[in-house]
Amino acid sequence: MESTSRSMPEGLQDIQGRTFPYLRLSVTDLCNFRCNYCLPDGCVDHHHNDALSVDEIRRLVTAFAYLGVQKIRLTGGEPTLRQDFTDVVHIIRQVSGIKKLAMTTNGYRMDKRVTSWMDAGIDAINVSVDSLDPRAFKAITGHDRLREILLGIQTAFDHGLPSIKVNAVAMKGVNDDQLDTFLEWIRSHPISIRFIELMQTGGNIEFFQKHHFPGKTIQELLLARGWVRKMSAADAGPAQEYCHSDYQGTVGLIMPYSKDFCNDCNRLRVTSLGQLQLCLFAESGIDLRDLLQSDDQQDALVMRIRDSLRLKESGHFLDQGLTGGTRNLSQMGG
Ligand code: SAM
Ligand code: SF4
Repeated sequence: MESTSRSMPEGLQDIQGRTFPYLRLSVTDLCNFRCNYCLPDGCVDHHHNDALSVDEIRRLVTAFAYLGVQKIRLTGGEPTLRQDFTDVVHIIRQVSGIKKLAMTTNGYRMDKRVTSWMDAGIDAINVSVDSLDPRAFKAITGHDRLREILLGIQTAFDHGLPSIKVNAVAMKGVNDDQLDTFLEWIRSHPISIRFIELMQTGGNIEFFQKHHFPGKTIQELLLARGWVRKMSAADAGPAQEYCHSDYQGTVGLIMPYSKDFCNDCNRLRVTSLGQLQLCLFAESGIDLRDLLQSDDQQDALVMRIRDSLRLKESGHFLDQGLTGGTRNLSQMGG
């Protein structure tokens, strides 16, 4: 990194003044689940064998770390379907400047594998659990695996994982009757549940119209029951956090349709094929892969990433039904 190493790098900043310490990196677009809002017909079209190699990932992360990124979340598709998943974790851990390495998983075989993820260097896990009722869970995901996932969460706790969060997409007529069950669960478990408002994508328009459940409804219910909104840390991103003295766990609300949601955007995304996505709902990405082929391309890579930030829009247009090029979130990681 010749020219850039002479002076201290400036962190990534867009024209709105937002900074980006957080990168979500998809390591495969393959998934083995069939979530009804994401891949209802299963993963029929993927580029698993063409995903970024461990060396390409190392170069990518080195450039982002140089530009001030401190937190990486590995996602997919299902990131753990990569045979070399722990090698990916391990190599990122070698990059200086990365302080937090998180992952999002559907929890497949988590009971058996979570300790190997932690040993490799994962220090935060988000697990998707859209229902605590085994039958509803199977109907949503196509898999009768709730038990092994809950066991995986317990194993992570037992082995001292510092942060564990559960993602649940709130859906009218599918799991909106589960809210109390989730809250009862976190009364005695120090888990942060993130209720995510269902987002429309190019591939789920009918499903979205039928099942969209406003996050505001959950927010009103929490407030009515004495939950209190926590002050967000400066780098917290768009989730709203709520706590209650009777509960060990907390609730996070992710409401992408709410006004001002994008004001706190602090993340960038890179797909498993090396496309930089400035927004989950952008029309297209910016190819970085040609600059991930050798270590001596770092200067050019840093420059392309920095220049691309000028193109970042102030917000998405989801409320107008504009979902960009995103057919489903497994394509690029949610
Ligand atoms: N396969 C992993 C999983 O399910 O956790 C990681 C990838 S998945 C795309 C990441 C997150 O996005 C999951 O919590 C999932 O529930 C959420 N998600 C997927 N499609 C969504 C949609 N249309 N609206 C809201 N959240 C969605
Ligand atoms: Fe797979 Fe995650 Fe999409 Fe479910 S939400 S189909 S687990 S990528």
